[in-house]
Amino acid sequence: MEDVWDLVVVGAGPAGSAAALRARQLDPGCRVLLLDRAAFPRDKACGDGIAAHARQELALLGLPGLLDDHRPTPRLSVTSPGGAHVSAVVARPNHVVPRRVFDARLVEAARARGVEVRRHRVRTLTALGEHVVVDGHLVARAVVAADGANSAVRRLIGVPPSPDRHTAIAVRGYADVPPDDDVQVIVMRSEAWPAYGWSFPVGDGTANVGYGLLLPRMREIGLPGREILHGRLARLLPLLGEIGSPVRDLRAHHLPLSSGRPVPGAGRVLLAGDAASLVNPLTGEGIYYALLSGRLAAEAAIGSPDDPLRAYRRGLRRALGRHLRTTDVLALAARSPGFIDAAIDVAARRTEVFDLLVDVGLGAGTVPPRLAAAVALRWFKNLA
Ligand SMILES: Cc1cc2nc3c(=O)[nH]c(=O)nc-3n(C[C@H](O)[C@H](O)[C@H](O)COP(=O)(O)OP(=O)(O)OC[C@H]3O[C@@H](n4cnc5c(N)ncnc54)[C@H](O)[C@@H]3O)c2cc1C
Repeated sequence: MEDVWDLVVVGAGPAGSAAALRARQLDPGCRVLLLDRAAFPRDKACGDGIAAHARQELALLGLPGLLDDHRPTPRLSVTSPGGAHVSAVVARPNHVVPRRVFDARLVEAARARGVEVRRHRVRTLTALGEHVVVDGHLVARAVVAADGANSAVRRLIGVPPSPDRHTAIAVRGYADVPPDDDVQVIVMRSEAWPAYGWSFPVGDGTANVGYGLLLPRMREIGLPGREILHGRLARLLPLLGEIGSPVRDLRAHHLPLSSGRPVPGAGRVLLAGDAASLVNPLTGEGIYYALLSGRLAAEAAIGSPDDPLRAYRRGLRRALGRHLRTTDVLALAARSPGFIDAAIDVAARRTEVFDLLVDVGLGAGTVPPRLAAAVALRWFKNLA
């Protein structure tokens, strides 16, 4: 056996890198090992949309300028399933940075902060007194499992995968767009609802374009998944902006939605990011939650070594409890496309409602009763 690591992090996406970075930030002397089965830079199926809220997390991790060389995308345009439309400047601009670039930068930042980074696929985990033994030879005081939507660690600690009804699937690719395109476009579809397509301009004459829907909706259609995802994206392209080339580098992945989130760990093993099913059920955003939960997991592992899971659950509850309860309820309401039509309708008329919806969809926002009442009123009016 090797000597003991204070923290072993499995998976070096945003959740894992955030955990590793935070651990060394809190205790520059602690020994942190970051494992990933892939060599970086590596691609990851994603819309590459990095919300302003995620940049706030980067600042907390000591990386405020990580994306400064990327042009912000100031405008967001959303079309609801019934055709309500809003296009407005967001209160704080988002960024679109290919994951091949973003994740590699985070890993490099972790390495520069003294984290040991190794290419290694984790296969086994054993609890041994006050330690966890990873793959028979890596001994850790605590483990952060940030190994994504199909988390092997989650399975190993006996936490079941997200139920299908709380899982989405989406495909993304890249296409050419005018170099000055700076609008994030989302077009929702009533066909196989809830479903939407997007175009997120990177700022270099390309855009990340994609389409996603709930897993059970896709199964109901009864065609091969690839045919549905690629076909529907191709049909949506004309609505997504000035797409000037065929879509290339198509890649799909599951999104475990927070409406089906599990207990976030067991004993000294803490689940973060997609491994904890922390993806917004309304928008599919998960990078902000990955950074946030990775940070909180490290704070629990380093700050409360006797009972890290208890501290982690408390941290998650404080940071996201009300927000997650809000999105649970909204995801139920959004089963009716008319609810989303009403919300977009109201957002198109009132800037403060647009800003609040962005906060709920991309950050940790909640819905004040006034806003809930305004949307409900519009919903009923539309029904009448
Ligand atoms: C098509 C699509 C579009 C999306 N668009 C957006 C968007 O625009 N904005 C947004 O915020 N979110 C988006 N999301 C969600 C976002 O991609 C995820 O929420 C985010 O990547 C979660 O980060 P993570 O660190 O938890 O996991 P990941 O980024 O998946 O990282 C997990 C890491 O674990 C490694 N790993 C896996 N198994 C093992 C193992 N056994 N041993 C060692 N390493 C392992 C993998 O190699 C990987 O590097 C999208 C998702 C999809 C599928």
